[in-house]
Amino acid sequence: MRKKILAGNWKMNHTGAAVQTVLTELVQTLPETKATLIIAPPFPYLAQAVSLTAHTPLHIAAQTMHWEEHGAFTGEVSPAMLVDIGVTHVLIGHSERREYNGETDRTVQQKVAAALQHGLTPIICCGETAQQRQAGRTDDLLGTQLRMALAKVRMADASRVIVAYEPIWAIGTGQTATVAQAQATCAFLRRQLAALYNSDIAATVPILYGGSMKADNAAALLAAADIDGGLIGGASLQAASFTAIIRAAD
Ligand code: PEP
Repeated sequence: MRKKILAGNWKMNHTGAAVQTVLTELVQTLPETKATLIIAPPFPYLAQAVSLTAHTPLHIAAQTMHWEEHGAFTGEVSPAMLVDIGVTHVLIGHSERREYNGETDRTVQQKVAAALQHGLTPIICCGETAQQRQAGRTDDLLGTQLRMALAKVRMADASRVIVAYEPIWAIGTGQTATVAQAQATCAFLRRQLAALYNSDIAATVPILYGGSMKADNAAALLAAADIDGGLIGGASLQAASFTAIIRAAD
């Protein structure tokens, strides 16, 4: 039985005072849950977030990273730096990174391998546009994204990744995928994992759904057989809306 995972992606939101307020409230109001809980604040607040959530069930993730350990990469942050400050997870290949920051299947591949090498858990994001879905290209595209992301991941490490299916048309739009759409695509991704590795690994790797998940649709999505959690943007920005989703997951 896979544990549920709820990961909040704060994107480029909140400055220090809000990080302090929201995380403090979250820690104080966290419901009892078996789910793994993760928050991904912006880079400048990662250390603050790690410190505010020490000795709590919350894990802290970065929203991206570089694959090299150090060097002449102005503006970048390395996996070693994230580990050094207590970050445990990292989002890789979020569609906003792919769209605005030149992230490709190839850079995703390098980042996933580097994350694992440094003991970080990569949350590998994949998803299709509305046009790609309408053209019937979803499975083909996601199959390629997943295969490329995992190309450098050996069998022994494959069960250490988290996959997040995030239809681009559902991110930040309020247009959540239906349970049937999300379940079918997550099940497809699981079959791909079985083909790339084996059925044990496919049964172990958590597959999250992301795209306008809210308290009122979370329970139905999270009850689907192949949806093991949520990657949540807008609804993770306030403690009350995130805790409402945590309650819906149980
Ligand atoms: C996301 O940022 O990954 C996301 C799913 O955002 P939202 O929940 O706001 O759609």
